[in-house]
Amino acid sequence: AEMFGQLTSGLESAWNKLKGEEVLTKENIVEPMRDIRRALLEADVSLPVVRRFIQDVSDQAVGTALIRGVRPDQQLVKIVSDELVKLMGGEVSELVFSKTKPSVILLAGLQGVGKTTVSAKLALYLKKLGKSCMLIAGDVYRPAAIDQLVILGERVVGVPVYAAGTDVKPAEIARQGLAEARKKNVDVVIMDTAGRLQIDTAMMGELKDVKKVLNPTEVLLVVDAMTGQEAAALVTTFNVEIGITGAILTKLDGDSRGGAALSVKEVSGKPIKLVGRGERMEDLEPFYPDRMAGRILG
Ligand code: GDP
Repeated sequence: AEMFGQLTSGLESAWNKLKGEEVLTKENIVEPMRDIRRALLEADVSLPVVRRFIQDVSDQAVGTALIRGVRPDQQLVKIVSDELVKLMGGEVSELVFSKTKPSVILLAGLQGVGKTTVSAKLALYLKKLGKSCMLIAGDVYRPAAIDQLVILGERVVGVPVYAAGTDVKPAEIARQGLAEARKKNVDVVIMDTAGRLQIDTAMMGELKDVKKVLNPTEVLLVVDAMTGQEAAALVTTFNVEIGITGAILTKLDGDSRGGAALSVKEVSGKPIKLVGRGERMEDLEPFYPDRMAGRILG
């Protein structure tokens, strides 16, 4: 199924219930609002986020004056669209760079979400913006991840990769890598880190140590778009534990139901900055809340 397909059709049934109505009233939005609520929950949007969203939309729907020539269903579509954009952060959130070289981007996230892939994609993305980059391979629990990053970084993207094997502590790798980046005078250094299958204290401890060493401008949590309801708890925990500056949503090309895209900003206050929509190195782009809302509304 196409991503958001189910959400889109769930919302359509809400608009359809208003066909033939003259205005939006407290009474005639009850059924459509129930459809919207169900559609969002089925899309794995976190419950508190759904509640707030429904409240905001309902308040506006009954408070909105009748606009000549605009049917009530169209009016509700407009309100939902605006609220969806707002929910996802409104504007595009650009990456932040430090005034002094190098800017440091720390990537965190669970295992398998696409962190290593994103590291290399991000280097290519920044290279295209005219920035010189260096990668640091910090996934010490997966030797294959280190090899993969070296191959992707050096051979495919064409940026240097600092690797120190799996026997060195991540914070030490970070320290050495940062020193190397200074020597090379690169604009941006990106560090890949080790994930786990689930959140655990050892992972958080390592990330805190690495963060202390790197003093990064960006700490980006890589989130798999397929993560359902758990996305809210995941983002909250990482934000509370290590402090994130934003998220990168991966695997948007899959048939995820979309909940993560809609929950991240609201639960953490931190925006999705970039999205990955494929396995190719070029498949990384800024996150546009308005375009995403457009896709959801079909
Ligand atoms: P890590 O454990 O977080 O470092 O995850 P990896 O970078 O090794 O990625 C895990 C798998 O997901 C690999 O098979 C990647 O090719 C795949 N992957 C990563 N990003 C995307 C994406 O945006 N779309 C798709 N379809 N696959 C992706």
